[in-house]
Amino acid sequence: MDKNEIYSITIEDMTEDGLGIGHIDGMAVFVKDTAPGDEAEIRIVKVKKTYAYGRLEKLNVPSEYRIEPECPMAARCGGCTLQHISYEAELELKKKRVLSCLSHIGGIEAPEQYLDEVCGMNKTGDTELSPSYLRYRNKMQFPVGKDKDGNTVTGFYAGRTHSLIPIEDCLTGHPVNRYITAAVCHWADKYKISVYDEKVNKGLLRHILTRVGFRTGELMVCLVINGNKLPFAEELNHSLELSIREYNAEGDSEINLKSVVININRKATNKILGEETRTLYGADHIIDYIGDIKFQISAQSFYQVNPVQTFNLYSRALEYAGLNGNEKVWDMYSGIGTISLFLSQKASKVYGVEIIPRAVEDAKKNAALNGIINAEFFTGSAEDVVTELYQDKQNSDYKAEVVVVDPPRKGCDNKLLETIISMSPERMVYVSCNPATLARDLVVLRNGGFQLRRVSIFDQFSRSMHVETVVLLERN
Ligand code: SAH
Repeated sequence: MDKNEIYSITIEDMTEDGLGIGHIDGMAVFVKDTAPGDEAEIRIVKVKKTYAYGRLEKLNVPSEYRIEPECPMAARCGGCTLQHISYEAELELKKKRVLSCLSHIGGIEAPEQYLDEVCGMNKTGDTELSPSYLRYRNKMQFPVGKDKDGNTVTGFYAGRTHSLIPIEDCLTGHPVNRYITAAVCHWADKYKISVYDEKVNKGLLRHILTRVGFRTGELMVCLVINGNKLPFAEELNHSLELSIREYNAEGDSEINLKSVVININRKATNKILGEETRTLYGADHIIDYIGDIKFQISAQSFYQVNPVQTFNLYSRALEYAGLNGNEKVWDMYSGIGTISLFLSQKASKVYGVEIIPRAVEDAKKNAALNGIINAEFFTGSAEDVVTELYQDKQNSDYKAEVVVVDPPRKGCDNKLLETIISMSPERMVYVSCNPATLARDLVVLRNGGFQLRRVSIFDQFSRSMHVETVVLLERN
């Protein structure tokens, strides 16, 4: 196969990054802007040892999955990768991906027999149990720049680049964002606030970050600036107040501006937030709930971006944990303690372990905020902390009946899996954001005496290929 050659191809599947996958003479070819089921002519643009990349030249027979993207920016924005296929097809692809990892990597026969549910989002708008599959994100970060006429604009970076595509709103975020970005840009132009230019590390305004408490309606607006002080802050606050009043008159939910903050980032870096945040108006945080648990969220806190679907997912984890109030539970990779606090309502004791100190501080704070006293948090890597505690005090306090893990994409450390196996809890609940590493870890756990019992799939990030899986394992 050579560069620039033209081939006919049928797209069979999709990668994690939303590229269509087809085969030519047994070799995998990845093609942007295609959908499973497409029959197309493609041009080879890059050839590697075992795979190649192609570009769509002509769509001969479009896939039945295809739809007109609901977002007008879909083709240019680097965010969503699945805007061009229907939501039903997206859920079908996600299910296929999880089941295929479980069987091919995990060696599990007929994994569909364990599948309880594919829990998608709502197609018709928000309900209490399900957010709309479009407007589900509670946090948005808009880079600020200039358009060709010199007006201040917000936008998104085109896929893998740093050129700004002007856009006031993102369909996956809260509709109030459009009012906020317009107010900030208008204010910036009126008071001649300079805009950050990364090439020379000069100019003030870098990003607008918004966080909305979906349950409480509380809003935080954070301006990330390359400087120590924000001029015309009072005027900014005033125009934000006005724009929210306008939104509340027109929109279908009630938003409350609770917090206006600046975050100082003077470095030429890809990281959006700097270390220091200062409050301009109101509080330094907003409040939101996942189920009955209350969370205090500041500009820098980690918080689940889709809290409604998170509730559904963690409720399933709680159900799988099968607690009756007497168990000790480990929550490994506990983050800000969402799962720990959820489980603590039905357990005698929950231990959480998390590697980022700030997240552990938040977890402790959130426990106190909710009057939860049976959750204890450790800082450090789960593989080291738990292994040490368990070895030191064999058969004592730290042995748990139930272990929950919610690792990052790379999955669990082997040392941790070995420790869990020797701890031999009755049940284990594995929450995973990457079915490939989940399936890999399941091989170890099944060899170590656990049996797969149930599987649920949750869509937390619609219009992207990210998929969450919860599985229940029990001792043989
Ligand atoms: N359930 C958590 C989120 C889990 S995301 C919540 O509700 O907040 C995965 C978490 O694992 C992240 O917070 C990450 O910082 C943490 N982490 C990554 N590697 C780790 C390790 N080796 N040991 C413990 N925690 C780790």
